[in-house]
Amino acid sequence: MSSLRFTALQELSSEERKIGHYNGKRITSMFNSNVFTGRTMRENLSDEAYKSLSASIKAGAKIERKMADQIATGMRTWAEERGVTHFTHWFQPLTGTTAEKHDSFFTIKSDGTPIEIFDGDALIQQEPDASSFPNGGIRATFEARGYTAWDPSSPAFIMETGYGKTLCIPTIFIAYNGESLDYKAPLIKSIAAIDKAAVDVCNYFDKNVNKVTVTLGWEQEYFVIDESLANARPDLVMCGRTLVGHSPAKGQQLEDHYFGSIPERVFAFMQDFEQESYKLGIPLRTRHNEVAPGQFECAPIFEEVNIAVDHNSLLMDIMNKVAKRHKLKVLLHEKPFAGVNGSGKHNNWSMATDTGVNLLAPGKTPRTNLMFLTFFVNTIKAVHDYADLLRAGIASASNDHRLGANEAPPAIISVFTGTYLSQVLDEIEARVKDKFNEQDEAILKLDIHKQIPELLMDNTDRNRTSPFAFTGNKFEFRAVGSSANCGSPMTILNTIVAETLKKFKKEVDTLIDKGEKKEVAIMHVLRDYIAASKNIRFEGDNYSEDWANEAAKRGLSNFKTTPEALDAFVTESAKKVFFNNNIYSDRELEARHEIMLEEYVKKVQIEARILGYLCTNHILPTAINYQNVLIANVKGLKELGLNEDAYRSQMNLLKAVSNHIQQINDNVEAMIEARKRANNAGSAHKGADMYCNEVKPYFDTIRYHADKLELIVDDKMWPLPKYRELLFLR
Ligand code: ADP
Ligand code: MG
Repeated sequence: MSSLRFTALQELSSEERKIGHYNGKRITSMFNSNVFTGRTMRENLSDEAYKSLSASIKAGAKIERKMADQIATGMRTWAEERGVTHFTHWFQPLTGTTAEKHDSFFTIKSDGTPIEIFDGDALIQQEPDASSFPNGGIRATFEARGYTAWDPSSPAFIMETGYGKTLCIPTIFIAYNGESLDYKAPLIKSIAAIDKAAVDVCNYFDKNVNKVTVTLGWEQEYFVIDESLANARPDLVMCGRTLVGHSPAKGQQLEDHYFGSIPERVFAFMQDFEQESYKLGIPLRTRHNEVAPGQFECAPIFEEVNIAVDHNSLLMDIMNKVAKRHKLKVLLHEKPFAGVNGSGKHNNWSMATDTGVNLLAPGKTPRTNLMFLTFFVNTIKAVHDYADLLRAGIASASNDHRLGANEAPPAIISVFTGTYLSQVLDEIEARVKDKFNEQDEAILKLDIHKQIPELLMDNTDRNRTSPFAFTGNKFEFRAVGSSANCGSPMTILNTIVAETLKKFKKEVDTLIDKGEKKEVAIMHVLRDYIAASKNIRFEGDNYSEDWANEAAKRGLSNFKTTPEALDAFVTESAKKVFFNNNIYSDRELEARHEIMLEEYVKKVQIEARILGYLCTNHILPTAINYQNVLIANVKGLKELGLNEDAYRSQMNLLKAVSNHIQQINDNVEAMIEARKRANNAGSAHKGADMYCNEVKPYFDTIRYHADKLELIVDDKMWPLPKYRELLFLR
């Protein structure tokens, strides 16, 4: 019976599952060894090519065409010395994974001489046959060309896969007419928008600021389970999450996993993927157990957002590959197991000047205090004005299981500032009326920076439940899903803050033009922004029922499902803010909206199919076999002439099993019918709504009966690895 599960369980104790890979090297000796860094550039390029490339990187400008050949040759030499034979344009299409198509350096000249070559054209631009990437109708077939174009601000790197090595050129992916088809092109545009807007505002305080970069430090949560056990579950293989499975007797209630000692097998895996990451310049810093059994987290030192997004995408790819070496499976899904915590990806976000100032770090002087307050308040105002857009940027079928599930930030966007800063904001709001006076100067003289240690200590439950929390010198956007590409939420955050800063500057300048002193003008506008965005601030427990009610009273949105949440992408306000900042045209936004709806439909559709398959081909046959065992037993007892009392329990079991079989069967059939209707909905939006409201509800009903069967049916017969095995055995 059910051999796959039992073979998998047996394999757990085999020797080949105890892999140790640690090479004992210092991290600094590995770090960046596979990256074409500034230093490698210096060593491999002529002065002329080096200067041209450095200038392009600095200015975010295109590479001079005449230099491209030289740069490409230098890159090839460097890569070939390390055993590389192929190159690829590496990009991040809207499928949510990374994409690569390899070409070799090898070619044959017209006279038949074989040579290796990598020319400037191949470096700068490629035309992948990409008609099957999601494009939301942007690329009609007659113009079905997409280009990948080198983004020199992200360095080239060598990806090692098994014994093969590939030179990867980070690129953006755009359509023939320049419309974005990926996560990176809009991100880079948003970086330019916030740079410009933030520099303009910085110049009120410091004329020497010429550039503002966005910094991102992500924290990646994930589950690790045994590969053979995972392979014995079609739902984990196909959907990355369990669709059935009764919660184990012991879950996370003892809270004994969080920050506990890391299991040896997982530890070996962590060290291995960390080493691969270091080679690629991913500055991983921390690793620890998370709250749920089998759940872990890693985080790097923060970096410039463009690089940080690439590094997170790379890391997810590396983790999947390295896990295979260890016969483990990484689950990046937001909610792989019902009843235990899901996984997120906290996005720590801030802005830094080229003069070395973190704009969200409270200052030590009145002037720097005012600068801090300016960026702090503008961010809160941006979140207030565009909360729905932020929510839309993290919406996905998988994140729906997490947001608002009493364990993760709710689908209601709010901002946590900590008690001290909350008081500061309240004071400013209360004091400044028409005239800036001495009292208000006092606010600027506050030692905000001295209160910050207290703020950092305030890592309370209230704080941890916030979807958007200020944590001392950065905001932490916690509602991002663990499998998401950070590019989407970061693009939105950058854009809305850029827009708010632009408006802010305009309002301040108007007051200055009217003769107001600069500081006074700034305080006035800040006061208005604090008052206007008050609703979004919340210091309490975000998981509580009370907050949901309170938020409703305040008029804050609470979009619990992806189809609802995604509508925020195509509102007038969204179109305006993206257009104003040169991120998306209306057409690009509508295409993206369409793509995300389609993705939602596909995800739920696949889950519905797999659930049907699991029931029809695994669970029902098993239950029927067990039913037969019970029938034979009752028959036998009857034949012995025993009275009903002797087989009462068996009869009750039999009735229960039969009832669950019936229910599963009926509901699976009804679900299939609902799916057919949804497939013919006629539009992506209608289809997504129907999958959400008419197909998905069957999941819970079917699961309820399947999980009841799991509790009743003879363990030896049960085909699917159980939660206790998945979560606790390794
Ligand atoms: P913890 O949350 O575990 O106390 P930190 O708050 O220091 O640790 O950092 C959490 C994450 O935030 C790390 O990835 C870190 O690099 C990042 N981080 C710290 N400072 C900044 C910043 N100014 N901008 C962006 N990310 C930051
Ligand atoms: Mg944190």
